[in-house]
Amino acid sequence: MAGTAQIGVTGLAVMGRNLARNFARNGYTVALHNRTASRTRELVEQFGDEGTFVPAETAEEFVAALERPRRLVVMVKAGAPTDAVIDEFAPLLEPGDMIIDGGNAHFADTRRREAALRERGLHFVGTGVSGGEEGALNGPSIMPGGSAESYASLGPMLEKISAKAADGSPCCTHIGPDGAGHFVKMVHNGIEYADMQLIAEAYDLLRHAAGYEPARIAEVFRGWNAGRLDSYLIEITAEVLAHVDAATGKPFVDVVLDQAEQKGTGRWTVQIALDLGVPVSGIAEAVFARSLSGHAGQRAVGRGLAGPTPSPLAADEAEAFAAQVEQALYASKLVSYAQGFHQLQAAGAEYSWTLDLGAIAGIWRGGCIIRAAFLDRITAAYAKDPALPSLLADEGFAAELGAAQDAWRQVVATATRSGIPAPGFSTALAYYDALRAPRLPAALIQGQRDFFGAHTYHRVDRDGVFHTLWSDGR
Ligand code: NAP
Repeated sequence: MAGTAQIGVTGLAVMGRNLARNFARNGYTVALHNRTASRTRELVEQFGDEGTFVPAETAEEFVAALERPRRLVVMVKAGAPTDAVIDEFAPLLEPGDMIIDGGNAHFADTRRREAALRERGLHFVGTGVSGGEEGALNGPSIMPGGSAESYASLGPMLEKISAKAADGSPCCTHIGPDGAGHFVKMVHNGIEYADMQLIAEAYDLLRHAAGYEPARIAEVFRGWNAGRLDSYLIEITAEVLAHVDAATGKPFVDVVLDQAEQKGTGRWTVQIALDLGVPVSGIAEAVFARSLSGHAGQRAVGRGLAGPTPSPLAADEAEAFAAQVEQALYASKLVSYAQGFHQLQAAGAEYSWTLDLGAIAGIWRGGCIIRAAFLDRITAAYAKDPALPSLLADEGFAAELGAAQDAWRQVVATATRSGIPAPGFSTALAYYDALRAPRLPAALIQGQRDFFGAHTYHRVDRDGVFHTLWSDGR
């Protein structure tokens, strides 16, 4: 006999617990399950008055508590645990039921799981969820993949619990079949890596080239947050920079070990971009910058190498420089979004997904870590031209880059002259200039390849494939 719960959540650690509470607060009856039953009991004890929960100790009780078709959200550790949970529940389900994986799965795993469950008549909905613990409770950005049929049943519920953008629209849309949702979540995280790296470089330049203290930089960031850089990441950066360590009285940023960690979605984004042949150089530099920061041994060697010591600018120059850094940050951010959206475009072609890039930018406007005023502009650019080959082809964005490029070059030049690493700013500018270049030295590379490996080349003046007999000079 079918139960009454409209949705069930298994895996009640921080994310699952908060998602379950979010469903309940929105009026849904929520079945609860966790491998370790004490977590289920704790949730009901602490938050049982927030809505209607149906706790279950066993997998059978949990499945029996759900109305049909069953909607079962899996919120467990990504990887083997997800397979273990699927193996446990799938035999208990019936055709038409849905397993929704809200964990940070690799999209290739999601494609594999979706195909296997489809054979058994089950829907598998790989779903990106962004916004961390707080987003899961109060409204995350949700990126569901899977079949259109599953979205018809599940979508309204996900839209209801999702964040809402400033115009009231839900930060949830059907992304596309099989692994599309997890793919888009992965690229979201890759863009997040790039955004964070660029913000960190802006901080470093303001600190060491402009000579500002962290509290002053926090003020600069607050000012930027009132303009076109308005975003969650800029806002929290100002808070982190203004924070003083209670134990030492020093700026918090100065007592934190400067080795950035990573969980892997940025690395996946770059690995897959390499497979797709898409130059996401901003995301790659961000991933490598985190790796480099963690290689204490290599950095110890580097401290003995020669180079300039940054000397702070005079006060009036520093102010002008800070304004240039804003331009460089905005321009570099635009480039990294253009690269991320290029990767989405390429994945759509490779995996036969029809991705609505404007709608994707739209659901990142609320709930998620990269939420920003700027995303409205991306949605508008794709609304104007859904076939836009690159975000940089949008007239408005192109004009802004044109206006920023002098300052951007000054900032990269200052960083280089002062010996301050700015890999994100530099690679974004190099990408911009490579796109602008009427001729690239790729022609020479083709010549080299033909010379040593007879790899052939194409000519600008004739159709066909050519090889030069190098030893004969022909
Ligand atoms: P987590 O620490 O990733 O996972 C803990 C949960 O997984 C617990 O409920 C645990 O059950 C369960 N679990 C682990 N191995 C299992 C197995 N073999 N069989 C059954 N259950 C198993 O929890 P989380 O931080 O809440 O994240 C949940 C998922 O959401 C992850 O995939 C994560 O990547 C993703 N996510 C996290 C965030 C975030 O900000 N934390 C944001 C977006 C997405 P027990 O209680 O029995 O140990």
